[in-house]
Amino acid sequence: MARKDEATMEHKSGCLFCGKELLYLEKAEDLQCLFCKGLFSTQAKCIDNHFVCDTCHALSANDLIERFTIDSCSKDPVAMALTLMKSPSLKMHGPEHHFLVPAVLLSAFYNTMADSGEKEAKIRQARKRAENVLGGFCGFYGDCGAAVGTGIFVSVMTNATPLSRKEWRLSNLMTAKSLYTIANAGGPRCCKRNSMLAIEEALSFVKDHFGVEIDSTIRNRKCQFYPLNKECIKGECRFYPESSLQPEKNTN
Ligand SMILES: [Zn+2]
Ligand SMILES: [Zn+2]
Repeated sequence: MARKDEATMEHKSGCLFCGKELLYLEKAEDLQCLFCKGLFSTQAKCIDNHFVCDTCHALSANDLIERFTIDSCSKDPVAMALTLMKSPSLKMHGPEHHFLVPAVLLSAFYNTMADSGEKEAKIRQARKRAENVLGGFCGFYGDCGAAVGTGIFVSVMTNATPLSRKEWRLSNLMTAKSLYTIANAGGPRCCKRNSMLAIEEALSFVKDHFGVEIDSTIRNRKCQFYPLNKECIKGECRFYPESSLQPEKNTN
């Protein structure tokens, strides 16, 4: 288990974001919180300049996801997901990933469309729905919550209801596509792998069905979280650092 990877994991000490050493400053500096973007006077910062304010540090996973994705101007859902995944509030596995997926997708979608008017309400709506998708849904119900998250994304974005026609089709088709890819990657569950696969599927879906190109500048999607996952399938997962597996199809 490489030391370098461990350092980015759930840290008991050091930087809350990356786990590296903290510097204690003689004079306070104004630093921007990585999550809420607020400016705070602090005498402690990470050697890589990361800073997380006390409020963000104390938020629950879903509160942090909601706040971060509502405030973010990012058009990159993969970058947003990775930043949030590094927060100590998000565990290696957990139902917070069911909200993470639609939250970063909705944020990136509305930021790309330069239409932030609806973004906040849509993200809050997605949270209400995602919170009904309980932990262990993948194995117990045969419907991975990250896949359901992409269905929630399309449903919220298109205002689908059980009575809609086109929107109903698209929402269910979105879940089907990401679930198919997630299922083919095989078990056991990994909330990081499945969230990443779900987000990638959603990006091609939005391009194909809505003509909206949302891309990620993060080309290297090698997993930073595997040392925390005792069920990691390692070389059989395409995100594992030494894996030779390739994406099943072009994901833009
Ligand atoms: Zn750091
Ligand atoms: Zn903050």
